[in-house]
Amino acid sequence: MSGPANVYDVIVVGGGIVGCAIARALAGTDLSVTLLEARADIGDGTSKANTALLHTGFDATPGTLESRLVARGYELLGDYAEQTGIPVERTGALLVAWTDEERDALPKLKDKAERNGYHACEIVGADEVYRRVPALGPGALAGLTVPGEGLICTWTTNLALGTDAVQRGAHLRRRARVTGVSVGDDVTTVHTTAGDVTGRWVINAAGLGADHLDAQFGYHRFTVTPRRGELLVFDKLTRPMVPLIVLAVPSSRGKGVLVSPTIYGNVMVGPTSENLEDRTATGTSEDGFDFLVSKGRALMPSLFDDEITATYAGLRAAIDRDDYLIDLDPSQRYVLVGGIRSTGLTSGMAIAEHVAGLLADAGLDLTERPELPAPPRMPNIGENGMRPYQDADRIAADAEYGRIVCFCERVTAGEIRDAFGSVIPPADLDGLRRRTRVMNGRCQGFYCGANTHALLQANGGVR
Ligand SMILES: Cc1cc2nc3c(=O)[nH]c(=O)nc-3n(C[C@H](O)[C@H](O)[C@H](O)COP(=O)(O)OP(=O)(O)OC[C@H]3O[C@@H](n4cnc5c(N)ncnc54)[C@H](O)[C@@H]3O)c2cc1C
Repeated sequence: MSGPANVYDVIVVGGGIVGCAIARALAGTDLSVTLLEARADIGDGTSKANTALLHTGFDATPGTLESRLVARGYELLGDYAEQTGIPVERTGALLVAWTDEERDALPKLKDKAERNGYHACEIVGADEVYRRVPALGPGALAGLTVPGEGLICTWTTNLALGTDAVQRGAHLRRRARVTGVSVGDDVTTVHTTAGDVTGRWVINAAGLGADHLDAQFGYHRFTVTPRRGELLVFDKLTRPMVPLIVLAVPSSRGKGVLVSPTIYGNVMVGPTSENLEDRTATGTSEDGFDFLVSKGRALMPSLFDDEITATYAGLRAAIDRDDYLIDLDPSQRYVLVGGIRSTGLTSGMAIAEHVAGLLADAGLDLTERPELPAPPRMPNIGENGMRPYQDADRIAADAEYGRIVCFCERVTAGEIRDAFGSVIPPADLDGLRRRTRVMNGRCQGFYCGANTHALLQANGGVR
C-alpha cells in the first residue's frame, strides 16, 4: 500500500472473472490492490455456471463496446490460456438453419460477423452440415461455420486470474460482502461484513449485485435482471456425437439452444433464457428441463437415448441496454463495470485492459512493474490434455497421482492435495469440485463424496 497506512490505491469488488481480471491487471503495476469477494470463494457467482465457450464475437452487435471487448478478450484469453494451462479446445461451431427463414438469415449473419471483424464464417449446405455432425436430427437446411469458436474451462480461468492477481501482490479477502461506502475527499471507506477497507479508487465488478453497489455511490442508472440459463449435461459416452458446437440461428428471443461438447468430455444442451427477480435462483426447474428436452430432442434425437447425468443453471446479469455499461466517475474515484451479461468469460481480460485505460486517462500511473512473477501454471482438468492419472512419469515420482479418489472423473489424491496447498485453496466441497472435477461425474459424488468430504475436513475444511 502506498500513502497513509492501510489505504489501498484500488479496491475491486467482486471475485468473478471480471473482478479477478481487473485485480490482476492493476496488481501488475505499482498500485496496491485489494479484491473483495462476498462469498467464501472466488468464481462462485455467474462465472462458475455458464456455457463456457470462448467466443469470437461473430454475433455481437457491431459497433458496441461488447463487440470490441469480446474480440479483444478472445485473443487475450486464448494467449493467456496457453501460458497458464487453462484448458481450451478449439472445436469450432456450426450454426444450423432449420427453417427457410433461418436459412435466409445466414448471409446477414455472415455479414454481421464481418462487421465484427470476423471473416472466417462460411455458408454451407445441408450435406456439409450432416457431414460435420452426422447425429443431427432430420430437417437441417443449411449452416454457417464459425471455426474460431471453442470450449474453455471457466473455473480454471477464474482461478488463474485470481491466483495471478494474488501472486502479483493483490490482497484477496473472501467472505467480505460490501454493505456500504463512505466517499471522502481523498479516500473511500468500503464497509464490508469482514470490516472496513479504505482505498482511493473503487471498482464495482459485483456482477448481479453491481446495481446495488452503484446505488451506494448515488446512482440509479440501471437495474440488473437475473436472466436464468439452465443446462443439461449428458454422459461422456455421448461426446463422439457432438464433434463441435452446434448453435441455433439467433432471433429476437435470444441466441437459442445449443448442443455442445464440454471441456470435461461431456455434452451439454442449453441454455434457457428466463428473466427472474430472485438473484439467488440458481436452481433448475421442471419447466426448464422439459423445454430443453423437447428442443434438444428435435436437434439431436439420438442424444436422448443416453443419460442426462447433471443439470445446472447460471444467472446472467442482464440490464436494460444492449451493451456493457462501463463508466468512470472521477469525482468519486469510482468505476462501474456493469451489464456483463453473456460474454464476460471471454471478454474479462479485455474489460480489465479497458478499465486500466480509463484509469490511466484519469491520471493513474499504470506502467507495468518490471520482473512480474510468471503467470501461474494451472492444473489441467480438461479432457483434451494429459491428466495426472494418465502420466506414468508423474505417478512414478509421486504415487498420490496414481491414487484415484473420484473414479467417474479420474481425480487423484495428489490433485486434491495440491488444491488444498494452492495459492487460493478451496473453502468448501464446491470449491474443490471446481479445482479438480471431484464429485462431478455421473455418480455425482455417490461413490467418492464421503471420502472427499473427509479430505476436506482433514485439510481444515473452511478457510
Ligand atoms: C447461462 C450462461 C451462459 C453463459 N455462457 C457464456 C459463454 O459461453 N461465454 C462467455 O464468454 N460468457 C458466458 N456467460 C457470461 C459469463 O458467465 C459472465 O459474463 C461472467 O461470468 C460475468 O463475470 P463477472 O465477474 O462479471 O460476474 P460474477 O462471476 O457473478 O462475479 C461477481 C462477483 O461479485 C460478488 N459480489 C456481488 N456483490 C458483492 C458485494 N456487495 N460485495 C462483495 N462481492 C460481491 C459475487 O459474489 C460474485 O462472485 C454466460 C452466462 C450464463 C449465465
